[in-house]
Amino acid sequence: MVDCIFCKIAEESPEKKIYENDNFFSVFDINQDIKGHALVISKKHFKTFLDMPNTLGSELLDCIKETAIKVMKEDNAEGFNVVQNSFEVAGQIVPHLHFHVLPRKKSDGVKIIG
Ligand code: AMP
Ligand code: ZN
Repeated sequence: MVDCIFCKIAEESPEKKIYENDNFFSVFDINQDIKGHALVISKKHFKTFLDMPNTLGSELLDCIKETAIKVMKEDNAEGFNVVQNSFEVAGQIVPHLHFHVLPRKKSDGVKIIG
């Protein structure tokens, strides 16, 4: 899609990718608020999670899991959170389907929810 930053990254930035399969790839978020913060992004332009066909579920899980394993290993993290924002009211800023993968450590002081 024209003027979509994630479509551009999908097409133009092979060197940035942490992991990829046929329909998804991952890169580091530009904002490293949490060290190793990664994004799992669909290669096709889906606006929200609801627009993604269920048939891509298995590939989505593969990309999330492989990305989580890699970013945890890179900085000896002990766990991770997966966050998905759909629609503006829920915090979605980039209107192209993506999942946040956030490596976590016991001492990091991060509070995701609650
Ligand atoms: P969301 O609020 O769920 O739409 O998250 C969008 C995320 O995309 C934010 O965490 C941004 O920091 C991140 N982001 C925006 N532009 C880029 C970019 N060019 N490369 C990597 N991450 C980006
Ligand atoms: Zn897009």
